[in-house]
Amino acid sequence: MNDYIKPLPQQVKGAVSQKYWDSLKEEKFMYQKCNDCDFSIFYARVVCPNCMSENLSWHQSAGEGTIYSYTTVFRTGTPGFKSEVPYVVGLVDLAEGIRVMGNIIGWDDPEALQIDQVVSLEFRKATDQYTLPVFRVIQEGE
Ligand SMILES: [Zn+2]
Repeated sequence: MNDYIKPLPQQVKGAVSQKYWDSLKEEKFMYQKCNDCDFSIFYARVVCPNCMSENLSWHQSAGEGTIYSYTTVFRTGTPGFKSEVPYVVGLVDLAEGIRVMGNIIGWDDPEALQIDQVVSLEFRKATDQYTLPVFRVIQEGE
């Protein structure tokens, strides 16, 4: 037991998402692709949402993406997050064609963030069971 007090998802043993969570612990971000129509899939599913095929395979993201949208949280009702305000939650479009929600970190001023700004995936260990993806802003000139 550690002192992580933020809410975490409830994992269901044997769920299709198990590989996703296990891979995060190894600092790999895995998503699915449909072997029949080549559609990229995130979050993990049993059936392709594009063609209904069950012929899916897992692939590792390179972790490069751009900000699709974001919001800055200045006040939170969730006790575990109170020490972190302001923080940024965003939707990131990864280069593999999937959209992922996560914290956006590495900024000096959240009001200077831009839609389509380049971000890079990093991993944050929350507990022994959970590692979470976060996205670091890539500054111009880096
Ligand atoms: Zn498909």
